[in-house]
Amino acid sequence: MKKDIDWSKLGFGYTPTDFRFQAEWKDGKWSEGKLISDPNIELSEAACVFHYAQCCFEGLKAYETVDGHIVTFRPDQNAERMQHSAARLEMPEFPKELFVKAVEEVVRANADWVPPYGTGATLYIRPVMIGSGPQIGVAPANEFIFRIFVMPVGAYFKGAIKPLKLTIPEFDRAAPRGTGDIKAGLNYAMSLHPTMEAHRMGYAENIYLDPATRTYIEETGGANLLFVDKEGTIVVPKSDSILPSITRRSLVEVARDILGMKVEERKVRLDELKDMQEGALCGTAAVLAPIGMINTPDGDIYLPSGMEKMGPVCTKLRETLTGIQMGTVKGPEGWIYKIK
Ligand SMILES: *Cc1c(COP(=O)(O)O)cnc(C)c1O
Repeated sequence: MKKDIDWSKLGFGYTPTDFRFQAEWKDGKWSEGKLISDPNIELSEAACVFHYAQCCFEGLKAYETVDGHIVTFRPDQNAERMQHSAARLEMPEFPKELFVKAVEEVVRANADWVPPYGTGATLYIRPVMIGSGPQIGVAPANEFIFRIFVMPVGAYFKGAIKPLKLTIPEFDRAAPRGTGDIKAGLNYAMSLHPTMEAHRMGYAENIYLDPATRTYIEETGGANLLFVDKEGTIVVPKSDSILPSITRRSLVEVARDILGMKVEERKVRLDELKDMQEGALCGTAAVLAPIGMINTPDGDIYLPSGMEKMGPVCTKLRETLTGIQMGTVKGPEGWIYKIK
């Protein structure tokens, strides 16, 4: 029996559901892991995560398809990315097959929480790994917790499909050769202040620039960027300090291989944005959220797609990707994992 929830009114927020998966790293190995019901974690006051931010996470979704199945989208990619994040933070890698199996197990156990097809809501899946062992001298923890919990969510940006206003912050997101390419909590800690500053000025998000030269655009606090130029080519910023979004990589494949569009993945200068036709934020949470306007030091840029709705190219991309996820469009082999 599905939970009694007004699915179409859900925002993007935390709701504890019935089950979560947890495995522990101790004495140099991972425990088998199991489903548990307690949403809380009890930790030492000296847990490494509290002091030295030893933590990385992932985000993916489960969908109810048009024919009533429950599926996830490319969980193997999240497993791999989390291994990459963990290695960079001196945390133990969680085995890929176990990651995918744990995702499936926790979604299946919480099947009643998966929003029905057509409601616009989805089940957000949050894997997280923390250094739980006590550590006061600066060093990695010797114990870790890997947990996956889930919650039903609606659109990440309120008013979902209305174009967003963005600004260029005075702060940087990630240092060159730093941690911008891993999904670490520390990348978010430093973006909280610029994000709140942007909100206080009436902008939905920041577009961060490359920290070395502040000439090229990178990404927003929690989503990659994608633009459409005057020729209709998809233009995707490239940089070593951008988090490799699975949504963005999938959209590039969808554009190129399914829709037959031209795609350029390259460095994109801030002063090129005024020539773009459309723009969007892309990520699991936002899917594809249109950009209407960008406030820059050289003045405001209003994209020709306008402030009322998503442009035609982004709409096509969004419809194709969500179609693949919801089972109405056939996607590339191996993208959809059927859970139930
Ligand atoms: C998670 C994340 C994204 C989006 O990645 P997806 O795999 O598409 O969800 C983009 N940028 C940052 C900084 C992120 O943390």
